[in-house]
Amino acid sequence: MGKPVVFVSEPINPLGLEILSPHCHCIAPWHDGSETGEIPEAAEAIMVRTYSVTAERMEAASRLRVIAKHGVGIDNIDVASATARRIPVLWTPEANADAVAQHALALMLGLANRLAGADEALRGGRFLERLDFGSVELTGRVLGIIGLGRIGSRVARRAHLGLGMEILAYDPFIDASDVATLVDDLGELLSRADVVTLHVPLTDETRGFINASALAHMKPTAFLVNTSRGPVIDEEALAQALTDGGLAGAGIDVFRNEPPAPDHPFLTAPRVILTPHVAGLSDQALVRVATEAAQGILDVLQGRRPASPVNPEILP
Ligand code: NAD
Repeated sequence: MGKPVVFVSEPINPLGLEILSPHCHCIAPWHDGSETGEIPEAAEAIMVRTYSVTAERMEAASRLRVIAKHGVGIDNIDVASATARRIPVLWTPEANADAVAQHALALMLGLANRLAGADEALRGGRFLERLDFGSVELTGRVLGIIGLGRIGSRVARRAHLGLGMEILAYDPFIDASDVATLVDDLGELLSRADVVTLHVPLTDETRGFINASALAHMKPTAFLVNTSRGPVIDEEALAQALTDGGLAGAGIDVFRNEPPAPDHPFLTAPRVILTPHVAGLSDQALVRVATEAAQGILDVLQGRRPASPVNPEILP
């Protein structure tokens, strides 16, 4: 019997392929610059980053036995269809949490210290405009965290212990936190926070969470940071709030459509720091996600229980 075929849809750290290669035949079209295309019919496993794994694609790849998400957000995988087909979906829930938390804090600090504007002024020969670029001191200020899970709680701890911020959190699914004061009302968090950072998964409930009426609760001096998923924010409403002075700034890593269109309103909105969905891409996180996803695939293919299944109910 030949080695099982594993489809690796997008680039991963080489250490992930090193784990798979002795035991599997890896098809990685990106290796030679080929188009990703469809899941090969022979594939028994796939590892995906943002590649969409729909019911139709699972139907076409009839030998599929395991789907491994390289990362955390599983909104690009139809988990219900996979479960119905008894295909385990794996993820790497802790692997990039530190990286994303650091990036959320970097965006917050970049906004508070007006790094983008100050850099641009200096490069433009406007050194003497320095008085326009004084910072907003975060110590003692309120950080509002929406979604206090793996990433949100790391942000909470670092911002509280490292920066001396007061932490409020809105997360109806948890009942205690050692660093955050939990609030039941999203409006209360939005109106009290000097910085709001989003760490919820994209679900039917969180889609469009931060819309015009949510933004209207926020202080005009407040910053908004999003490293979760683009559709959690109504992008047009946020761009409008920034333009109207309803908000002091935004730091955005994720977009409704990626990459964002060249006429995306964030590109011309004032006081915005934009990054191209890089929050989880730290040097250490990339090694962890690739190696953990690869190990999970091997575990399933070789009959062991994987460490992090999303749908454990179908495993023996
Ligand atoms: P997690 O599951 O540990 O935490 C999410 C938290 O959100 C949970 O505590 C949950 O109770 C809470 N939540 C769910 N629905 C909510 C709601 N309606 N209102 C308030 N809280 C709600 O997930 P995590 O590991 O912290 O990751 C959070 C998200 O970050 C992921 O789903 C993913 O989309 C995103 N992410 C982005 C990047 C990036 O590169 N930008 C990388 C990794 C993860």
